[in-house]
Amino acid sequence: MKPYRVVTNGMSGADVQAVKGGIVARLRARRFGGLPKAWDSTMGPRFADMAGDALHALGAAPSTVSAARHGRLTVGAQRMLLAHRRTPAQLARATARLPTTRRRAKASRQPGPSKPRIVRLQAAMANNQGSIGALTGTVGHYTAGPRPGTRSGDLSYFRQYNAQHRGQGWGAIGYHYGLAIDGTILLLRPASWRGCHTAGANTGRLGIVVNGGPGQRMTAAQRASYRWLLNNAHTSAMPASHRASARLSSLPGVGKVHKDYNATSCAGDFTTDYRSAA
Ligand SMILES: [Zn+2]
Repeated sequence: MKPYRVVTNGMSGADVQAVKGGIVARLRARRFGGLPKAWDSTMGPRFADMAGDALHALGAAPSTVSAARHGRLTVGAQRMLLAHRRTPAQLARATARLPTTRRRAKASRQPGPSKPRIVRLQAAMANNQGSIGALTGTVGHYTAGPRPGTRSGDLSYFRQYNAQHRGQGWGAIGYHYGLAIDGTILLLRPASWRGCHTAGANTGRLGIVVNGGPGQRMTAAQRASYRWLLNNAHTSAMPASHRASARLSSLPGVGKVHKDYNATSCAGDFTTDYRSAA
């Protein structure tokens, strides 16, 4: 077998490269079992599912795959498994026996092909900061805190930060949008309210935040959602209370980060993601 090489394109942090290296090592050793928990928190649960399905399709024995993961095989992975040593006619008949999974996959599809899932924080907020004014840009941040590795974990941390920022007298969480690990856009402070995320530079600037700290990078899903946000936050695809008053990607100050305005290391290595997708 031709040796695999881990390809790095400069866009991935050390954690992502470690996961790539781990997958290659497993393929080489033909170890197709469940994926290490740590990979979920690095790449997000969607990636873990996808990688698990791919390894399974490549030859994982069902007994080495958890029942839960086995039951969540995508239609694509099931087709790959069914295709093994079957004639096209047999494959067509076998695939026709998967209507439930296929229906479920179709129902969960979002209206636009690239529109991410959008979820409200659903926490008490009040505006005591006035109006954000005419938009001039975006400011990217990290929380300098834990990166939980699941969407529900991200939501739970942002609810905590909402309570903390209210306790500081800010009325609501300081940022306007959160990017969950799986690419879900979390609606935080309403877009027309002035934020509390960048001292002296909150007027006209929407704050965007990810859970995590130095040395970490966005997942591909987070980068895709960030790009979607910059191009679509002003459209009817965004709920009215969180809709931007202008196309963010056209603003002169799009893709800035906290350290562009204040003496801070925020947004760490996420800075590359905030700048490159803008
Ligand atoms: Zn910051």
